[in-house]
Amino acid sequence: THFGFSTVDLDSKQGLVDDVFHKVAKRYDVMNDLMSGGLHRAWKADMVAALNPSPARTLKVLDVAGGTGDVAFRTLKAGGESTEVTVLDINREMLAVGRERAGDRFGDRIEFVQGNAEALPFPDNSFDAYTIAFGIRNVPRLELALAEAYRVLRRGGRFLCLEFSNVDMPGLDKIYDAYSFHLIPAMGKLVTGDGEPYRYLVESIRKFPNAALFSAMIMDAGFARVKARPMTGGVVALHSGWKL
Ligand code: SAM
Repeated sequence: THFGFSTVDLDSKQGLVDDVFHKVAKRYDVMNDLMSGGLHRAWKADMVAALNPSPARTLKVLDVAGGTGDVAFRTLKAGGESTEVTVLDINREMLAVGRERAGDRFGDRIEFVQGNAEALPFPDNSFDAYTIAFGIRNVPRLELALAEAYRVLRRGGRFLCLEFSNVDMPGLDKIYDAYSFHLIPAMGKLVTGDGEPYRYLVESIRKFPNAALFSAMIMDAGFARVKARPMTGGVVALHSGWKL
């Protein structure tokens, strides 16, 4: 079986996505390390470095599709007392794992909110930064997610998005294809007993727009000074923009 998203309507896409993360929530962090060979840590560290949270200034961050809280924890560790992060995710199980991992390490500087990236439950102009790591490709209506990001950011606010991108290094592309089409679902099956969620994962990466197209969409949403920085030969890209 095979999830043919091109033939599935957008609401059922969200249903499939929810099902995937419902199944993997408890093992999500282990699988992340395993499948990226630990690289997701370096990618996230880069995004947090670009955000540059610091004890010297207050920063109110919204981390969308924040799942088990990884990006939020890194941001809070780097920013100290003057940083606050709201973790938003559509999936209750992922948030529950995140809450448990957070414990009381960050006090009330972290908050977990269940919600949809396409319709954020926050007023306009309410955050200094919006981050999203490996989340936006799961959202059925990308343009809606980008419009919402723009709406909730204040003027001068920063948009940062880490997402799988397009590998265009000769040689690496072949290795990457073999790895993602065969090894990822196999590893998923081995560890969780079910390869299907991981086939979805690989598919969703394939269907995501390349860096140039995605940058154009970010500009269409109103963001200025839009940049894309490829990492690891384009396996991933960090997209950045400003609400000016
Ligand atoms: N940002 C985390 C990280 O990098 O470890 C989690 C990324 S995980 C691959 C994708 C997350 O997107 C899941 O937790 C899933 O529940 C969430 N998600 C999917 N669709 C969403 C939506 N429409 N709105 C908000 N979150 C969504």
